[in-house]
Amino acid sequence: MSDEKRSAWEMAITQLENAAKYLPKDKDWLNAIEYLKHCQRMLSVSLPILMDDGNIRVFDGYRIQHCDVRGPTKGGVRYAPQVDLDEVKALAFWMSMKCAVVNLPYGGAKGGIAVDPSRLSRNELQRLTRRYTYAISDMIGSLKDIPAPDVGTNAQIMAYMMDTYAMIARNTGEPAHGVVTGKPVDVGGSLGREAATGTGLMYVIDAYCQRKGIDLDKQRIAIQGFGNVGSNCALQLAGYHQCKVVAVSDINGGIYSDDGFDVQALEAHVDKTGSVVGFMGSKKRLTNKELLACDCDILIPAAVEKQITADVARLVKARIVAEGANGPTTPEADGILEENGVVVIPDILANAGGVTVSYFEWIQDRDAYFWDLERINKELRRVMVAAFEDVLRVAQERDVTMRTAAYIIAVERLAKAIILRGIFP
Ligand code: GLU
Repeated sequence: MSDEKRSAWEMAITQLENAAKYLPKDKDWLNAIEYLKHCQRMLSVSLPILMDDGNIRVFDGYRIQHCDVRGPTKGGVRYAPQVDLDEVKALAFWMSMKCAVVNLPYGGAKGGIAVDPSRLSRNELQRLTRRYTYAISDMIGSLKDIPAPDVGTNAQIMAYMMDTYAMIARNTGEPAHGVVTGKPVDVGGSLGREAATGTGLMYVIDAYCQRKGIDLDKQRIAIQGFGNVGSNCALQLAGYHQCKVVAVSDINGGIYSDDGFDVQALEAHVDKTGSVVGFMGSKKRLTNKELLACDCDILIPAAVEKQITADVARLVKARIVAEGANGPTTPEADGILEENGVVVIPDILANAGGVTVSYFEWIQDRDAYFWDLERINKELRRVMVAAFEDVLRVAQERDVTMRTAAYIIAVERLAKAIILRGIFP
């Protein structure tokens, strides 16, 4: 089967099986791998919403908990038209792996609604979010399963989710702040959370370049996706470092400039017009596929799954691919990139900054004591660099890619927890 047709969940299982080759083969370990090939709990809900025009529309929603052996489950909520059970399963699985790689005391979960949020009014979006939260309320809780933003959702959506949960839980006296992370700072959110995935990505890229003697400030960057992750990473790389951001794209297409873009002006343009396309001075237009193959040093896919397929991988000119998105590279493409000497800093490591600052937010909510931005970013860097060093060490010791190394570490941690806890009953 061509890799484009393969589902995200099939991709996730292939990644797990690749890592399993390097793990012990005794019965306990094989059982643990089998355990991880399933999601523990899956809820599928229909969400009838009264639209502003008086008609009812019914949306499909999901919440899936992959594995809670290492702690409460954690993961975002995605609002996008293509959301389905298979995609949410894969995303939940990747959250388990991600939390294990950076060693957070969480398991993985994910949720989503099949909807294009840009086509809903603010009120419709609020009603949909509240109905969804109500429908999944038995599953979530600050010590059970903690949602957060993902593609198509943001801090405002998290505020609606927290408020809805608080209304439902008010008789139990259960505190509601810790039920979601990625909230606005005014209602228990953390400083630095919004930029955290992009910031963490920059820390990992920086750590890699330092290890390999590459001057990060001289690198030319191409970014697919200019949402929360892509735009924040671009701002950091062009601001904190002096990288040239030569190409960016979004759902409408991409733009390229040999001289690099003024990222702050680009950000302002996107705020105003909703797209990178048409940004002044951008003479050269690109398709999303062309962006992935453009002339650059570091390629950052920061959109959605399955963008770098086998066909695309053959065309990649970058020497480093740093995955801001979840699952952007197929297993077939991984093989081709490796053959061509392209280094992949894998998603479960590279984009773990978001969930790491979510963890800090959850701790701050529990303590009702809030940290300053300096502390957040210092601790974020510490977590990201430590995880990166672990991954690089295993990659070198076992002579495998950083993806396989990251999976070896994650699966090892998860399998140990499964074996120690044993199987109920
Ligand atoms: N949605 C983000 C991710 O894919 C963040 C999840 C979280 O903060 O729980 O990692």
